[in-house]
Amino acid sequence: AGTVTQSDSQPAYEVLRRVWGYDEFRPLQEEAVSDVIASRDSLVVLPTGGGKSLCYQVPALVRDGMAVVVSPLISLMKDQVDALTANGVAAALVNSTQSDEQKRTTAARIRSGEIRLLYMAPERLLSERTLSFLESVPISFFAIDEAHCVSNWGHDFRPEYRGLRILKQRFPDASVHAFTATASERVRDDIAEQLQLQSPKVLVGSFDRPNLTYRMLPSDGKLRQIRNVIDQHRGESGVVYCITRKEVEQTAAALESAGVSSLPYHAGLDDATRQANQEAFIQEKVDVIVATVAFGMGIDKSNVRFVIHAGMPKSIEHYQQESGRAGRDGLAAECVLIYSGGDTMTWKRIMENGDRSNFEDAMKSVYSMADLCSGVRCRHAAIVSYFGQEFDVDNCNACDVCLGELDTVEDPVTLSQKILSGVIRLKGRFGVAYTVKMLTGSRDQKLMDAGHDQLSTYGLLSNEAASTVKMWVEQLISQDYLARVGEYGTLALTPTGQQLLKRIGSVTLTRPNLKSSS
Ligand code: ADP
Repeated sequence: AGTVTQSDSQPAYEVLRRVWGYDEFRPLQEEAVSDVIASRDSLVVLPTGGGKSLCYQVPALVRDGMAVVVSPLISLMKDQVDALTANGVAAALVNSTQSDEQKRTTAARIRSGEIRLLYMAPERLLSERTLSFLESVPISFFAIDEAHCVSNWGHDFRPEYRGLRILKQRFPDASVHAFTATASERVRDDIAEQLQLQSPKVLVGSFDRPNLTYRMLPSDGKLRQIRNVIDQHRGESGVVYCITRKEVEQTAAALESAGVSSLPYHAGLDDATRQANQEAFIQEKVDVIVATVAFGMGIDKSNVRFVIHAGMPKSIEHYQQESGRAGRDGLAAECVLIYSGGDTMTWKRIMENGDRSNFEDAMKSVYSMADLCSGVRCRHAAIVSYFGQEFDVDNCNACDVCLGELDTVEDPVTLSQKILSGVIRLKGRFGVAYTVKMLTGSRDQKLMDAGHDQLSTYGLLSNEAASTVKMWVEQLISQDYLARVGEYGTLALTPTGQQLLKRIGSVTLTRPNLKSSS
């Protein structure tokens, strides 16, 4: 082990050019490739579309022996094997849908040393039969794709990944390399621990996607907003993500009748239809796919020019992944998110009915996402800093905030003072919705019974729409002047909020912006 010099990476360059026809590695790829070639355990964190596959596919062709790739989804493996085969690389996958005959053929090809990359799901790899078979052939390394699945802290824990810790014992000469798009340090440490990586090299790529332009619009005639975006990308490929299946069906139907070439995709459709719709999109027989999050995992379509979220995703991780499917070819692409306060409630309801064991963490993720939407900070900066990375560009020129598309209010400090005073009058016992009712002078019965119509701040913002005031409260939260506290998310002033009440500090508040969506 040790660092690899330029001359050692020459074969890697040769393979990159000959097999893939690419001229250069991306910044982190070269380092990641060197570690695999040097047989040093590693953990590589790159965002979706960052180019993780090449980090193990190239070394597999440079090193002696066969590389084993562990991946959670059959469709994902199949796509990769097909793509490799099309490039003339001997790759194979083993799964439970194959006949004994197929499995025997693959085994023979492995024994003869022909296969360079073998793809398997963890449960197959970990069967004793497979393990002892693999012990009898030269293995160069193991690549663990979607490695966050090994961690309880990740968003997609899969118990079968846990067993992968025995790889280091059973194959002491093979290096193990983990790949994930999940950046949290806790997950990262857990992956290294669970997989028993030996002093792994940890490489974390930039989470910024400079070629993506982000826009976050408060919902206001959603279908019209969606069509506006699509109209600017006529004839180009794009994805519209909806939260529910029903919304997928409705949106797809509405787009279709508006003459937009589109198809739906969600887990409620039968396999054949899903497969056919996906194929139609990949082969550009249809421009737009309207989908739930079920769509996209492992789909390598590099020329997606826009991704529209017709509702707010449940976390910034999800948003990063889904929006990240745009512009994988590195060319400009647009990501538009249409959100409303109701989205937070929708997620809350979904999560209350689901596995409640990490309800609080899950809701924290939802709130972070909501804060991002209503926030007025550069979207690139906000996303990247959520993943713990620095972003030192003053004006990204690629988001609604930096492009000056937000409609800012004239005297934000005075407006903020009104809202903050209202929160103080409610003595930290109420959440966003109630505070907004009080400020806008709602005749809500509960509010009247509590005598809150007698507060000096009651109706202080009665000239404004409740949805606008709510947005301002959320903007004050996202700029850290207000905080949601405790189980019920009651509002309280932060120390900087106390300062702002005394007119110390600056703040930005915006009006719902219809300029970019009309
Ligand atoms: P990830 O698995 O990290 O989401 P992929 O490995 O699927 O990303 O790569 C994303 C896209 O970038 C693919 O279309 C791939 O062909 C392309 N790509 C990866 N590395 C390079 C490179 N060095 N030069 C040009 N294109 C690349």
